[in-house]
Amino acid sequence: MLEFIDSHAHYDAEQFDPDRDELLNRLHSEGVRNIVNMGCNLERSRLSVEYAEKYPFMYAAVGIHPEDVEGTPADYLDTLKKWAVLPKTVAIGEIGLDYHYEGYDPDLQKRIFKEQLDLAEQLSLPVVIHSRDATEDTMSILRERGTVNGVMHCFSGSAETAKQVLALGMNISFTGVLTFKNARKAIEALEVVPLDRLMLETDCPYMAPEPNRGKRCDSGMIVHIIEKIAEVKGVSPELVAKQTTENTLKLFWKMKG
Ligand SMILES: [Zn+2]
Repeated sequence: MLEFIDSHAHYDAEQFDPDRDELLNRLHSEGVRNIVNMGCNLERSRLSVEYAEKYPFMYAAVGIHPEDVEGTPADYLDTLKKWAVLPKTVAIGEIGLDYHYEGYDPDLQKRIFKEQLDLAEQLSLPVVIHSRDATEDTMSILRERGTVNGVMHCFSGSAETAKQVLALGMNISFTGVLTFKNARKAIEALEVVPLDRLMLETDCPYMAPEPNRGKRCDSGMIVHIIEKIAEVKGVSPELVAKQTTENTLKLFWKMKG
């Protein structure tokens, strides 16, 4: 049985309301060693913290997602900080920029992104970064910092961008997109990411890998992503699982305790 970590999940999503408890306990018994539940806004960050308290194998990230920046209260950093210092909060995330949908406010997104990068640095916590259709601005904000302790999640950029992300010292994780038929760009990016800088994630309930594409995704489906990475890298699935687990434990240092 493969043992692995799902470094990025959203089990607070309503898609899991009917069977969350049963599903999480079953997944853990089937090889899902740990799960990190992401924060997207204050309410959902609070849920991440709550799950981390409830399930020994779950950990929390807290943060404001770029699509959720509107209406963020002025004192949000104090609230995040209160949760971030808890022993099972392993990262500030997911944070970043998302210019995909019309009507976004790039200046507000950038301000909230930078403030959370500062908070993470202040607390010596890694960051989980979401960047969609915003590569140029995301990279320029990150480059200003020289090095960044974190992971670029659901990587969708080119091999060239992947190299720049690695040069900042960050890890890269891919979702089920790797298994899609039109995944050529993601595969090319994967090829330049060394095994010791890779992490696994589902982004569930979204991004279910083949052969489950379009269905509700859960952490157990990572086995399909592991198989794809093993094939592209020419190594065994066991090695992919083992190395990505080590990488994740190293980045999310609080998980070691
Ligand atoms: Zn996510």
